[in-house]
Amino acid sequence: MKDTGESKDHQLTVALRIRPLSDAELEEGATIIAHKLDEQVRPNRCISYCVCVCVDEVYRSTTKCLIEGLISGYNATVFAYGPTGCGKTYTMLGTDREPGIYVRTLNDLFKAIEETSDDMQYNVSMSYLEIYNEMIRDLLNPSSGFLDLREDSKGEIQVAGITEVSTINAREVMELLMKGNKQRTQEPTAANQTSSRSHAVLQVGVRQQSRCRDILQEVRFARLFMIDLAGSERASQTQNRGQRLKEGAHINRSLLALGNCINALSEKNGNKYVNYRDSKLTRLLKDSLGGNSRTVMIAHISPASLAFEDSRNTLTYADRAK
Ligand code: ADP
Ligand code: MG
Repeated sequence: MKDTGESKDHQLTVALRIRPLSDAELEEGATIIAHKLDEQVRPNRCISYCVCVCVDEVYRSTTKCLIEGLISGYNATVFAYGPTGCGKTYTMLGTDREPGIYVRTLNDLFKAIEETSDDMQYNVSMSYLEIYNEMIRDLLNPSSGFLDLREDSKGEIQVAGITEVSTINAREVMELLMKGNKQRTQEPTAANQTSSRSHAVLQVGVRQQSRCRDILQEVRFARLFMIDLAGSERASQTQNRGQRLKEGAHINRSLLALGNCINALSEKNGNKYVNYRDSKLTRLLKDSLGGNSRTVMIAHISPASLAFEDSRNTLTYADRAK
């Protein structure tokens, strides 16, 4: 795990998850070229990451620690980054037998809330949206059309008109999330049958009020974004034409803007300029990337020889962020 939190106020953690070889890769005769090294083995030329194989390890080394910050009023963002088919959704959503980052985080958040609920009253809300071709759609109310970003009276970025649902447990959030997923823009590409060409953004708001002397006083509000990013593969590799090519250009642009922001924020010398304006994604995250917020990037690669180019690009992107 690389933690660039030396400046104390901004913290960034980058982890890498390598999925197993798929049946399709095995059939194509792929060999394994990326694997987790023994702690003792340190080749001269290597980029080293916190390499996690199981989701429990990913969660514990990246996201679990964000909950304490969230309760203390710090915003946080978790990204799943990588090419289509490398396991982003698998990490975030998980399976019934092995729940992903969403469920684990929400369970621990509600547990933490329960533990402090004698002194504080909490209101947890969620919204779920996708950014597709630089347009924002409310996945909990798709008929509302495309939504705009606005600054509220406190100067904080809000999605105008987005559905916000108050929730009391992780199960409720997951049910809404699954419902929202059915509304996602999913188009097949040559690289993958069910590739996701949009960023899926789960936003969890934690509002706290103190119960001190029976008067409820608002003390804190913090937001956690958990984002299953669109596939990072290059447009050329997916033989895209027309609409697909346009999607690819938008995806590349927003992932580049995101990388630039994270890179600028992790600069150790104080004089940094962070440009959030280049994409909807970075504009939306403006209050949750800089300042006192915490950022986690979970990069995903396939171990297969055939995926070398994509894996190298992913590692370069993650390394730039560190
Ligand atoms: P992405 O969201 O990045 O496009 P997916 O999460 O849909 O990729 O994963 C692609 C396929 O690989 C799915 O069939 C998924 O079940 C499988 N897969 C991904 N990661 C793992 C893993 N760590 N262990 C086992 N299977 C995985
Ligand atoms: Mg996916």
